[in-house]
Amino acid sequence: MKTPTTSRRNFIRNGAIGAGALLLSPALSALAESKDNKRLGIALVGLGGYAGGQLAPALQHTKNCYLAGIVTGTPAKGDDWSKKYNIPKKNIYNYQNFDEIAKNPDIDIVYVVLPVSMHKEYTIRAARAGKHVICEKPMALNAAECREMIAACKKADKLLSIGYRLHFEPHTQEVMRLGQKQILGKVTKVDTANGFTYNGDPNAWRLKKALAGGGGLMDMGIYAIQGARYTLGQEPIAVKATQEKTRPELFKDVDETVYWELKFPGGQKVTGKSSYNHDWSYLKAQATNGTFELQPAYGYDGLDGKVNGKPMNIPNIIQQAAQMDDFATCVKLKKQSRVPGKEGLKDMKVVDAIYRSLDSGKWETI
Ligand code: NAD
Repeated sequence: MKTPTTSRRNFIRNGAIGAGALLLSPALSALAESKDNKRLGIALVGLGGYAGGQLAPALQHTKNCYLAGIVTGTPAKGDDWSKKYNIPKKNIYNYQNFDEIAKNPDIDIVYVVLPVSMHKEYTIRAARAGKHVICEKPMALNAAECREMIAACKKADKLLSIGYRLHFEPHTQEVMRLGQKQILGKVTKVDTANGFTYNGDPNAWRLKKALAGGGGLMDMGIYAIQGARYTLGQEPIAVKATQEKTRPELFKDVDETVYWELKFPGGQKVTGKSSYNHDWSYLKAQATNGTFELQPAYGYDGLDGKVNGKPMNIPNIIQQAAQMDDFATCVKLKKQSRVPGKEGLKDMKVVDAIYRSLDSGKWETI
C-alpha cells in the first residue's frame, strides 16, 4: 500500500528519525511528571498494519506511556508481540474476553486500531471497562455513531481522543498558526488533497462499505477535511461533491476519488479531494498577504512546507509518540485532549454531508 512520496513501509523504516515526543508544552509535561511519574499502560486493540508498523514502534519512544497490553484474535500474533515487546501473557486479550481488561490495573488506556465498523463497539466497551480511549480515524461509520461514542465515554467519565497524530506535528502546527492567527492576513483560499494508489488486497476491509464506511474519502479525505478546518480555524457550513471511478470493479462498494467544495462562514474558497487512485498529499493556502503550503502534508514523516515560497525548515518528529504522550498527560491531568471525540465528530459530519451530496448532486448543509 503506497501513500504519496513516502510509502507506508518507508514510514516504518524512517520511524526512528525525528526528535520523538517533544511537543508537549514543557509546563504541562513538568506538571504531569511532578503529579505522577508512572508511565501509563496502553493496550492496542487490533494488531494490523498501523498498530504493528507505527504505534508499537512509536511506543518505544514515549515518555509518559508504554505498550502494556494487546488485544488480538490471533493467538500466534499474541505470542510474537509478547516476545518482541516483552508483554506479559496476562496482558494479552482476545475479542471475546476483552471486557476482563476492566480488572487489569496495568492498562490505563485502550487504543482502538480496528476496521472502522468496529470503532464504536470497542470504544464503548473500553470506556465501560473503565479505560480511557484513543480511537483511530475515521472515528466511526457516521456522525451518529460518533455521538454515541462521545456519550458513552462521558457517562463512564473516561477521556476519549481520536488518533489525529498531525495535531502534534510541527509543520501542521505552523499551518494552524499561520492560518488561524492570520499571520499573512486573512486566508482566502485553501486547496488540499490526500490519496494513494490502492494496489492492495481486493478483498480487504477497506474496500467493503459495511466495514470501512466508505473508500478514499473516509480513509484519506478525512485529513484533507481536517486540513481545511485547522487552516481556517472555522467549521464549514455546506458542501458540494462529485466523484470519479476508473477501476469500478475494485471500488464497486466504496468511493475511489471524490472532489468537493466547502462553504465556510468567512466565504473563503475551499476545495478538497481524496483518492484511492492518486498519490496526493498537499495543502495550499492563499492569504491576503502571502501563501503557505505543505507538501507532503499528511504522511507519517517527511512533511515539508513553504511560506511565501521559502522553506519552513522544520524538523519531522515521531508523530504517534508525541500524540500518545500528550494523551497520557491529559489522562494524568484529567484534561480533554486537543483532539477529543468531538473533533472526530466534526469531520464525520462533513463526510456524511459529502456522501449526501454525492447522492443528491446538490449542495448539502453540514
Ligand atoms: P489493518 O487491516 O492492517 O489492521 C486491522 C486489524 O484489525 C488487523 O489486525 C485485523 O486482524 C483486525 N481485525 C479484527 N477484526 C477484523 C475484521 N472483522 N475484519 C478485518 N480485520 C479485523 O488496518 P490498519 O491499516 O491497521 O487500520 C486500522 C485502523 O487504523 C483504521 O481505522 C485506519 O483508518 C487507522 N489507520 C490510521 C492511520 C493514521 O495515520 N492515523 C494509518 C493507518 C491506519
